[in-house]
Amino acid sequence: MRALMLEDPGTPPQLMVVDLPVPQPGPGEALVRVAACGFCHHDLQVMNGTLRRGVAPGVVLGHEISGVVEEVGEGVDLVSPGDRVVSLLTNACGQCDRCRSGREHRCRDGEGIGHWRNGGFAEYVALSQHSLVPLPVAVDLPTASLLACPAGVALQALNAVNVSAGETVVVTGAGGGLGVHAVQLAAALGARTLAVTSTSGKATVLYRYGADDVIEMNAPDSGLEFSGVVMAVTGDLGADVVIDTVGTPTLRSSVRCLGQYGRLAVLGEVGGEGSLRGIIPEIIFRDARITGVSGVSRQTLEQVIALAADGSLTPVLQRLMVLEEAAHAAELLSERTILGRVALVPQAG
Ligand SMILES: [Zn+2]
Ligand SMILES: [Zn+2]
Repeated sequence: MRALMLEDPGTPPQLMVVDLPVPQPGPGEALVRVAACGFCHHDLQVMNGTLRRGVAPGVVLGHEISGVVEEVGEGVDLVSPGDRVVSLLTNACGQCDRCRSGREHRCRDGEGIGHWRNGGFAEYVALSQHSLVPLPVAVDLPTASLLACPAGVALQALNAVNVSAGETVVVTGAGGGLGVHAVQLAAALGARTLAVTSTSGKATVLYRYGADDVIEMNAPDSGLEFSGVVMAVTGDLGADVVIDTVGTPTLRSSVRCLGQYGRLAVLGEVGGEGSLRGIIPEIIFRDARITGVSGVSRQTLEQVIALAADGSLTPVLQRLMVLEEAAHAAELLSERTILGRVALVPQAG
């Protein structure tokens, strides 16, 4: 089968499409023919060498997978050949205490898909049946690749801070993959949604995806200060919730725009080394709560699939590219000109 290999990390990374044997599904596993696999910042960080921890040497990257079950291994009873599926981000055992309590994404024997075990930048991938969620016909396969990450991770964050209707939610990095889905989902939950973006030209489309206000910041690396604007538009009350999908460059302002008892979810950044100096008192005086979020549970993924099926969520897939175009896709992603995501498909057409 065709698969993308990272020969050498760097900027630009050395990538090559190689021929690998089709994996054999082991007991409890299904072989999935990949329809599309979203290109995540996580993949970009592995490709440029920023993220190395826990990455298996020679692994096939890609964890945002949709496809069709081709064949099943011994003891598989949750999926059948022909099923259209989307995968979780972790290969889950289905047996441990965490899997049994709805935290499959934190499975004690879990392996990161496209990180520790082979992922979806290939024609086929073998995955645990416990990591596959069936798709209804109303959701098309290529866009479904974005339902676990980034859309599901965004909903996991909104759920983690218990967003309710009528609350004010600030989303940073609103034009990115996590951000644009967080904006849509916050709006779908009935929140007043303020979208912060560092890329000009994304405002119109963010309004279309449900933002009530768009705050455009023009200097992405110069210590973004959007809290003043948030305070101004909330009558100095601040936001109930901030979903910070950027991290180090935005964290200070994210804390400063929280109201009393505000909740902040941080997600997305996995390689930052920013300083929290001076913001601890800001957290304390607000009685604020900060939650880290990565991954998505089966239950949240099912919730996202239902929202996509009834039209409340539109996965923002800007472009499909073939495996050979991966280096170009990486370039587009690092320029941050993409709205939402690009996804790779194993074959042209
Ligand atoms: Zn991802
Ligand atoms: Zn488990």
